[in-house]
Amino acid sequence: MKRPRIGFHAPIKGGVHNALVVAKDTGCDTVQLFSRNPRGWMAKPLTLDDVLLFRKVRKQTKITPVLIHCNYLVNLAAVDDVFLQKSRESFREEVERALLLGVDYLVVHPGSSRGACEADGIALCAESLKIACKGLKFGSLRILLENTAGQGDCIGHRFEHLALIMELCPKIPLGVCFDTAHAFTAGYDIREEDGLNALVQRMQKTVGIKNVRAIHFNDSRAVYNSRVDRHWHIGEGHIGAEALRRVARHPKLKHAAFILETPYDDPRADLKNLSMLRSFVSGC
Ligand SMILES: [Zn+2]
Ligand SMILES: [Zn+2]
Repeated sequence: MKRPRIGFHAPIKGGVHNALVVAKDTGCDTVQLFSRNPRGWMAKPLTLDDVLLFRKVRKQTKITPVLIHCNYLVNLAAVDDVFLQKSRESFREEVERALLLGVDYLVVHPGSSRGACEADGIALCAESLKIACKGLKFGSLRILLENTAGQGDCIGHRFEHLALIMELCPKIPLGVCFDTAHAFTAGYDIREEDGLNALVQRMQKTVGIKNVRAIHFNDSRAVYNSRVDRHWHIGEGHIGAEALRRVARHPKLKHAAFILETPYDDPRADLKNLSMLRSFVSGC
């Protein structure tokens, strides 16, 4: 059996193509990047040169799949109308940028519906996806809904939420990104083998395991069921190395791209986390 493809969230300093260069230089198969500043509404448009260079380096490096993570301001379930409108416009721009660059996946969090009930938040997220994607030709791009830690009023902390959004948007190519740290603090106890198998079964019953195209492979600094989102270095958090090793070697998950999103506090940390993930999957 082939081992899963591995990589991490790489910086885009000096241009979006640099994420591919960093990935290649560190021996990754796959990569995730932001296509713009993740913390501001305004995005510098991609120039034709940016796009051509990205596509050329992609061909040279053969990094695949390539994921873009949506900026953090977008909230497709926002109850405030102005914020919702801005989020839909910004998300459409993210999809357009992903299409221009020719990447495989665009990862987005379903959003937060402060004050509204979960069902309304889920319906609003689906509605926003439809409005934001109206008229766009997707080609091979797929949008991946990421499970959340359930912080504040975030929806998407149950795989049932993601399945509902998928059901409500049958014309949009949707899939799922499974974040290990988010699932753990949202109350899926993956520390033991039974718990991991139960979660894999749940994913199969709700979103369908083949639709889980990416795995954000993170340990958690926050404790189990805390609903707090704090990624941490592999093997140094509350999930632990043994449990994460089982995730990386799970036979039902090996089709997915494994992406580390561990903190950037030390430049050597990425390489250490990557080498741990590599050791987990080697011999798969
Ligand atoms: Zn995310
Ligand atoms: Zn994540």
